[in-house]
Amino acid sequence: MDLIKYLEFKEKLRNELENELSPESIERARKDPHARRYPRPCGMTIHTGIGCTYSCTYCYIYDMGFPHKVQPYPLSGKELLYALTLNPYVVLGPGGTMLAMGSVTEPFLPETRDRALEYIKVLGSLGNPLQVSSKSVLDDEYITRIKGYAPNISFLETVICLRNCRKIEPLAPDPMDRLRFVGRLVRAGINVSLFIRPIIPGITDRDAREILLMAREFGVKSVVLGTLRVTAGIYERLRSIGIDLSLRLPSGKLGREQVPIRARDLKDKIASLAREMGFKVYESACAANIEAAGLGCYACKWGPCGDLSRLPSVDAGDVNEFIKYLGYSGRVEQLRDNRIVIRLDRGDARRIEAMLRELLRREVVIRGVMRHHCADSICGDIN
Ligand code: SF4
Ligand code: SF4
Repeated sequence: MDLIKYLEFKEKLRNELENELSPESIERARKDPHARRYPRPCGMTIHTGIGCTYSCTYCYIYDMGFPHKVQPYPLSGKELLYALTLNPYVVLGPGGTMLAMGSVTEPFLPETRDRALEYIKVLGSLGNPLQVSSKSVLDDEYITRIKGYAPNISFLETVICLRNCRKIEPLAPDPMDRLRFVGRLVRAGINVSLFIRPIIPGITDRDAREILLMAREFGVKSVVLGTLRVTAGIYERLRSIGIDLSLRLPSGKLGREQVPIRARDLKDKIASLAREMGFKVYESACAANIEAAGLGCYACKWGPCGDLSRLPSVDAGDVNEFIKYLGYSGRVEQLRDNRIVIRLDRGDARRIEAMLRELLRREVVIRGVMRHHCADSICGDIN
C-alpha cells in the first residue's frame, strides 16, 4: 500500500486551497478546531452547527456549554476542507480517516441543513468513509443531493422510542415520520442503518420490537446500538420525566463528565431481538461507516468489521518509509493481523498512531517516545 501518496495528496490539496481561498478564509480555517482536533478511535467528528434546537432530554451537548439555539458552523465547505488539510492527524482520500457528522448537533436542522449539504459535497468528493447521524426528516430533493454528493455515505437515523416520546425528545420530528423517511432513504439507494442510541431503560427496550418491525418493513437491514451516557444534569432531567436510572448508575458521583450507565443487559436484549428479525447489528457506529464504504477494519476489539478482503495489506518497509517521510525516526517492530507495534525514537507518537490506524485499519501501538494524552477529543454521535 502506497502510504506516502496520501501525504502528497493532502499537501497538494492544501496548496490548491491556499491559492484559492482569501486570507480571511485561511485565517478562519487555521484557527478552527477542525485543523487540530485529534480523531476519536472511530473517526474525526465534523461539526455542522453550533448548538441544537431539538433539546432532547438525554442530550449531553448542553452540559458541554452548547446553546438550545443553533447557528450554522462558521466555516464554508472549502474552509472546512482546508482546515482538515492542516490537521496533522487526519488522512484524506479514499480509505482515509473516517469522518462523522452529527456528534454535537443535529446536522439537518432547517438553519444548518444547507451547511451540512455543503460539507457532504466537499467531503464526499474526497472518498473518505463518511457518516451522518440524524433525527431529521428531509424531502426528496435533499436525499437526491446527498446520494449524488456522497454515494457511499453511511446514514444513521435515530429512533429510540415510539410512544410518549415528546417528553424525551420534545422538539425532534415524530419517530414514525423518521421511519417513513428511512424508507425513502432506502429506496434512494443510500446505506442507512437504524440508530438505536441512546437506549433509555424502560422506554427503548419497551418499544424496540415495534421500532424494529417498522424499520424492517421500510427496508432497513442494519442497526447500530448504543448505551446512554449521563451527567448529573441528564440524570436529573430524566428523573423529572419519570425515568429513574438510580439502579443503573456507575459507581462514583455524577458531575459534568459523561459516564455510561450500566445497560449491557438491555443492549444485548435488543441486539438478539434485532438479529432474530434478520438485522445486522453493529456494536459501534464506525462499523456501519466502514461497511458502507466497502472497506474492512480490525482496529479494535469489536472488529473485524466490514469486508475483510479489503483490509489493507501491510508492508513493514512501506510503514518505515512513511515514518521517514514525516521526518521522524522509527520502525515497525511487530506485525500481526490486527496489530502493529512501532518503535519510535523521534517524532509525534499520537500522529503516527492516528494516521496509521486509519490507513492500515489495525491497532497501532507505539513504543519508545512518550505519548501525550489528548484533552481535545469529544465523544461523538449523539444523534
Ligand atoms: S441529541 Fe442530537 S438532536 Fe437531540 S438535542 Fe442533542 S444534538 Fe440535538
Ligand atoms: S474494528 Fe470495527 S468497531 Fe473497531 S474501529 Fe474498526 S470499524 Fe470501528
